[in-house]
Amino acid sequence: MGEYDVIVVGAGHAGCEAALASARMGKKTLMFSINLEAVAMMPCNPSIGGTGKGHLVREIDALGGEMGKNIDKTFIQSKMLNTAKGPAVHSLRAQADKNKYHVEMKRTIENTPGLDMRQGEVTDIIVENGRVCGVVTKTHTWYKAEAVILATGTFLAGKIFIGDSAFSSGPNGLAPSCELAANLKKHGMKLRRFKTGTPARCLGSSLDYSKMEEQRGDEKTVPFSFMNDEIGDNKGLCWLTYTNEETHRVIRENFHRSALFGGQIEGIGPRYCPSIEDKVNRFADKKRHQLFIEPEGLDTDEMYIQGMSSSLPEDVQLAFYKTIAGLENIRIVRPAYAIEYDCIDPQDLKLNLEYRAIENLFCAGQFNGSSGYEEAAAQGLMAGINAALKISGREPFILGRDEAYIGVLIDDLVTKGTNEPYRIMTSRAEYRLVLRQDNADQRLTEKSYKIGLADEERYRRYKSKKEAVEKEMIRLTEKTVSPSEVNAFLESHGTSPVNGRISFAELLKRPQITYADLKEIDDETRPELSYHEVTQLEVQIKYEGYIAKQLQQIARFKKLENRRLSEDLDYSEIEGLRLEAVQKLNQIKPESVGQASRISGVSPADINVLLVYLEKRKRGN
Ligand SMILES: Cc1cc2nc3c(=O)[nH]c(=O)nc-3n(C[C@H](O)[C@H](O)[C@H](O)COP(=O)(O)OP(=O)(O)OC[C@H]3O[C@@H](n4cnc5c(N)ncnc54)[C@H](O)[C@@H]3O)c2cc1C
Repeated sequence: MGEYDVIVVGAGHAGCEAALASARMGKKTLMFSINLEAVAMMPCNPSIGGTGKGHLVREIDALGGEMGKNIDKTFIQSKMLNTAKGPAVHSLRAQADKNKYHVEMKRTIENTPGLDMRQGEVTDIIVENGRVCGVVTKTHTWYKAEAVILATGTFLAGKIFIGDSAFSSGPNGLAPSCELAANLKKHGMKLRRFKTGTPARCLGSSLDYSKMEEQRGDEKTVPFSFMNDEIGDNKGLCWLTYTNEETHRVIRENFHRSALFGGQIEGIGPRYCPSIEDKVNRFADKKRHQLFIEPEGLDTDEMYIQGMSSSLPEDVQLAFYKTIAGLENIRIVRPAYAIEYDCIDPQDLKLNLEYRAIENLFCAGQFNGSSGYEEAAAQGLMAGINAALKISGREPFILGRDEAYIGVLIDDLVTKGTNEPYRIMTSRAEYRLVLRQDNADQRLTEKSYKIGLADEERYRRYKSKKEAVEKEMIRLTEKTVSPSEVNAFLESHGTSPVNGRISFAELLKRPQITYADLKEIDDETRPELSYHEVTQLEVQIKYEGYIAKQLQQIARFKKLENRRLSEDLDYSEIEGLRLEAVQKLNQIKPESVGQASRISGVSPADINVLLVYLEKRKRGN
């Protein structure tokens, strides 16, 4: 039926980024979805970003991906989280209008040259001589391609659980994808069961907001995309309320009717997104749990009850929701449910997200064992880039743990593996002071421009920001003032006076002083810097010492990362390695000594044995 360079199975957050990246790198691309209403569908929380996830969105944007631009067009409320803490953990989060998010992403895909979109269920992948070369759909139609990307999300052998009722289905009542699951197993893929859950949706008109705490967005909204300086004002509110002991009593009395505790669900769920029955069970001493009421969109009265996912029966759901302040007269329009689905063990992948056992078959998103729109989109982007590079015979594009949260995400999945849906967090990134939201473009846009994804306009903006920040850094470092010129200013900002001349950069290092404040004593014409430029300037000056220290740590880290290991190495031939290490190293085939050192079961002693072996080989002994 058609010949393509790249075929993407899935139009979720992973599939969309993969298809756009591949097409934008000049590859003839086809993207499938069982139902085109599922394009960039948000089956769970109506938001993008948050702690660690906001960093991923900025990195996706800096690389030339779409998620950042799409949420800037469709956000309802925007908030910078963790501002009381250091810049490494400042994380942007925006409430999304789900339907508009879907419509905008679908429109972008429809308008992308070289990208075809098709409604259809892929049932088989075609593999010849160990290499994938196309797919077959439910209508027995064959599509040829040089590379295929699997991004099937929570649809693969999807099964829904509500109380004692369990049935085959994808999220939101959409069709599951069962035949492909069977076909992948036939090709030797080891699939396992994970699960996740979502809360009920209700009508806002049935809620009493006077019993809740209003949650407003930030006064000044901040864009996710480096391509935007302004995104307009907040358009909606959220609300905070709490469960209580009565809620917990109703849930506890019905534990036996929960699919989770009833043992029907075999899939492993996300530790960081537990269902309400899980929370009541695990934190029995807690008197209340907070929940947020969030709008699903501006053109609907449907509200999302964040923090209250469940697989209890519908009558129990109604009973416990009604015990909550403000929800006494709740009218539920979609029940809460849990969904189980098939996914792979990401340790069967290479760092470029290629499935080791079938050449040119790439995997991304929830299918790789992660959870979350942002984690999925980041992997989709990398799979799309690497599929395009692989079929052009070019070097893979891999980001290190010291270069990006995307590098941390993929290295954690592929090298360490995961036994539950993996969620990114700032605590997972050891070099987080360098991997901040504000400098994602400085870390990644040049790399993406070189591989042919970031376009000229993005590259121009990145360059001009870089030059503007560097130029102003020099000006502030060279510009000094005398005590008589500055001490009144310092006093007015509640910080100590100086005895000698001091540079503006030194002044800015003081926590009480912002770049905007310096205007009061600046007699020179200051450049008009954008939000993105001022943020980066301030962080680089205020945290200069800490950043320098982290860069030294990174230099040490890179030593082992740059010791490359060939894929053909048979670790059973290396004397002195422990059996467990031999098995793990031969299974994962690490690409560097650094990666080998992060595999669980490979000890520092094993790494020393490996380094000695490599040294001997280098000397030809
Ligand atoms: C009920 C529920 C609750 C969730 N709760 C959370 C949560 O609490 N926290 C969190 O971080 N994340 C949660 N998520 C996960 C979040 O939705 C996903 O992480 C994200 O959507 C994954 O994106 P993806 O692109 O990998 O897959 P999806 O968004 O699931 O998209 C998969 C795509 O693949 C297509 N597809 C599948 N099989 C085929 C086939 N054979 N042929 C053609 N097309 C196919 C589908 O049509 C769809 O377009 C939840 C998801 C669900 C469903």
